Amino acid sequence: MNTIYFMGECMVELRAMSAATLHQSFAGDVYNSAVYLKRCFPEVSTSVITALGQDNLSKKMRERFESEQLDTQYVFSHESKVPGMYYIETDEHGERSFIYWRSDSAAKKTVEFLNAECVDQLCQGDMFFFSGISLAIIDKTSRDQFWKVLEQLKSAGVKIVFDPNYRARLWDSVEDTKAQYHSAFNLADITLPGVEDLTTLYDVHSVEAVIEYLKPYQINEIVVKNGPESVITQQNNTLQSHTIIPVTTVVDTTSAGDAFNGVYLGARLSGKSIATAVQLGAKAAGAVIQQPGAIAPKDVFQHAMVEAGI
Ligand code: ADP
Repeated sequence: MNTIYFMGECMVELRAMSAATLHQSFAGDVYNSAVYLKRCFPEVSTSVITALGQDNLSKKMRERFESEQLDTQYVFSHESKVPGMYYIETDEHGERSFIYWRSDSAAKKTVEFLNAECVDQLCQGDMFFFSGISLAIIDKTSRDQFWKVLEQLKSAGVKIVFDPNYRARLWDSVEDTKAQYHSAFNLADITLPGVEDLTTLYDVHSVEAVIEYLKPYQINEIVVKNGPESVITQQNNTLQSHTIIPVTTVVDTTSAGDAFNGVYLGARLSGKSIATAVQLGAKAAGAVIQQPGAIAPKDVFQHAMVEAGI
């Protein structure tokens, strides 16, 4: 069985429905990707690597992971910390605003739980996915340990997958981000950047410029996302441009990239070609942006993917 790990943070989401009503759910980039992968490719063993607390919301979050058939053996319980949380509100013009409480979350401690025995087990897997958000939130004191773990996994043959997913507010400085991303690109076997993410950091403004920027790194598979415009891939110096059919009824673009990533990687793990994986990833993202929130209802999503031939 193919195995993929998604390391990062899942948060408690509080969504304002009206002046007096909040809807509570769970979301976070790596979790979103894991959910969409597993929904499309149930035969791929999909694990979340994170740390939660011992509180009731942590318990409910773990249950949510399990209800999505995600493997929770690497979902650790910190003795005193609790999960991060965010509040989301949409104004009358459709503009979203967020407030976060995540600066002391349990997930920041995840690397502390990755002991030698755990890393040995992880070395048996096929892919390890992390994002710029995963990198930003782990304690700075854990970074050396994190890179050591990644080097061990890579040496054992686990494919390292990185989505830069840049969130400026999570970083102290652009220099710090660039130094960490340099290490990430150095180790990555697959990367899935969005053009916008890299524009701020490296002043690259097109898919071609992103590919050019990544040239010095030994990244076997590069997948550049550019919203509804196109997806460009490069594997072993073969460049391919993929046409995306734009969705006209966009409701909420939250987690478009996450859905794309999850389904793309599930398809690749299941032996599909890059071209097919891009089309399935794009179909998943297109379905997700026609629904509010990060996680689309299972039946609606499944219906769209059946239409796509999954
Ligand atoms: P991110 O969520 O990381 O900003 P993008 O905006 O680049 O990512 O979108 C990720 C993927 O979602 C794209 O590669 C594309 O497949 C799909 N997508 C985004 N916007 C649209 C759209 N309007 N119509 C159809 N597909 C879209």
